[in-house]
Amino acid sequence: MRQVNTKTVESSVEKVLKKFQVKHNIPLEWSFENLSGSLKEELCKSVNQVYKNYVYGSFYSSFNGTVYSFNKKEEWIKIVPVYIVFFEKYKRILMNVTNYQLSIFLEKYNSSELMQNILNKVEFISARHSLKEFKEILLQFGQDKCFYCHKTLKKIHVDHFIPWSYIQNDVLWNFVLSCPRCNSSKNN
Ligand SMILES: [Zn+2]
Repeated sequence: MRQVNTKTVESSVEKVLKKFQVKHNIPLEWSFENLSGSLKEELCKSVNQVYKNYVYGSFYSSFNGTVYSFNKKEEWIKIVPVYIVFFEKYKRILMNVTNYQLSIFLEKYNSSELMQNILNKVEFISARHSLKEFKEILLQFGQDKCFYCHKTLKKIHVDHFIPWSYIQNDVLWNFVLSCPRCNSSKNN
C-alpha cells in the first residue's frame, strides 16, 4: 500500500523495495514472509538506512525533544520513561485514533482493491509472542477440554477469545484452550 501523500512520486522506501525486487527477481505477489532469512535481513538493512535518514527524527521536534531521543549512528531511539507508561496505559485508544486517521489517509492514495480489509492491514503491527507460556498456565489450572466443543484436548491450540486484532494485547484473561478444529473455524 502506498503511504505517501502523492500519487505519482515514489517514497524512498518504495524505491528501495522496487530496486530490491528487481535485483533478486522476486515475484510481485510475494509478501515479506515469502523471502528467505538472508533476503529478509538484506531488505531490513536497506530499509533501515532510509529510516535512519527520514524516520528516526520525524517526531523529535514536534514534541520539542521531550518524548524521545535518538542516535542515528548507533541506531537507537530511547523513549522517555513517563511516556512509556502513558503509551501503555492508553495503548488501545491511541491505536484506534491512529489507525482511524491512517485509514482515512490511505483511502486517498490507494485503489479500492488495495483498500480491502484495510483495518487488518493497518493493524498488522508486529509478530505476536509465543503463546506457549499461556498454554502451560491454563493447563495447570485444569483446562483440559476444548473451550468451545468440550472435547478432551489432544493437540492443543491457545486461542484469543476476543480476537487479537481487536484487543492487541496478550493478556491471560483473554486466552482459552481449544482443539485445532474450533480454533481454525473461528475467525475475527
Ligand atoms: Zn473444539
